[in-house]
Amino acid sequence: MPTVPASRGRRGGVASGNAKPAKPTSSSAPAPLLRLKGITKSYWLGSTPVRALKNVSLEIREGEFVAIMGPSGSGKSTMMHVMGLLDAPDSGIYRLAGTDTHHLTEDERAVLRSRTVGFVFQQFNLLPRLTAYENIALPLLYADSTPAVRPAEMGKAFGLGNRLKHRPSEMSGGQQQRVAIARALVNSPRLILADEPTGNLDSASGREILDLLRDLHAEGLTVVMVTHDPDAASIAQGVLHLRDGVIVEDTRQGAGPAPAS
Ligand code: ADP
Ligand code: MG
Repeated sequence: MPTVPASRGRRGGVASGNAKPAKPTSSSAPAPLLRLKGITKSYWLGSTPVRALKNVSLEIREGEFVAIMGPSGSGKSTMMHVMGLLDAPDSGIYRLAGTDTHHLTEDERAVLRSRTVGFVFQQFNLLPRLTAYENIALPLLYADSTPAVRPAEMGKAFGLGNRLKHRPSEMSGGQQQRVAIARALVNSPRLILADEPTGNLDSASGREILDLLRDLHAEGLTVVMVTHDPDAASIAQGVLHLRDGVIVEDTRQGAGPAPAS
C-alpha cells in the first residue's frame, strides 16, 4: 500500500496563492474561522419537526483540527451542512471567515462556500463519468479564481499520477477518497469539512486518508471531521460530542461557550 507522497512535497502548492492568513507568530489566539451561536435546524417529516440541531453554539479557530462524534442521527451531518453553507439554519447566527452568513444571498453563499470550504464525504461523491483529473478540476468551473495548484499536479502529489485518466469505478476506495480530497483542495480552501471520510475504507486506506488530513492541518488548514472511530478522532486536537442535536461535551482545553463578539 503506497503511502501518500503528497503531503510533504506539496507545501507551497496547496496553500500558496490563497487568501489564507499566515499562522500567527505572536501568542495571540487565532481568530475564529467558524462561529455558531444558538443554531437550530429542523427537518419536517409531514407536519412533524425533526429537531436536528438545538441551540448549538461553538467556535472553531483558524488552524484547529476538531473531530465530531455522536450516535447516528445526533445531528453531525446537519452541523457539517450548516458549517459548509450547504444548508441554512432556522435560527441562530453563523459567521464563517468573518462573514455573517445570515444576510447572504444564495449566490453570495455559493461564492463564500467555494472560496472557503472543501468537502470530503464518506461516499466520495465523485462524478462517475468523469476521470480523476476531471473530478479534481470540477470546482474550478464554479470559481473565478486561478488555482494555486493545477489539478494534474494536485493529483500527482496525492499519488494519483497514473490514475488521472481513470474513472472512479476503476479506482480503489482509498484512491477515490484521495481524488475527493484533491478536489476539495483545488480552490485552496481554509476549511476542510470531512464527514466520516474513512467510513467506507479498509483500515490501511483509512489510515492514509487520516495521515493526509493531519498533514493538511499541519500546513495550516482548519479541519472538522465527523468520525465514529475513536482512533481517528484521536488525531484531532479536540472532540465535540453530539447527542440529540446538542453538544454534550467539548474536550478542547479551555473551550467554553462561544464568547460574545
Ligand atoms: P448524523 O449525521 O449524526 O447521523 P443527521 O444530521 O444526518 O445525523 O440527522 C439528524 C436528524 O435529522 C436525524 O433524526 C435525521 O433523521 C434527521 N434528518 C437529517 N436529514 C434529514 C432530511 N433531509 N429530512 C428529514 N430528516 C432529516
Ligand atoms: Mg451523518
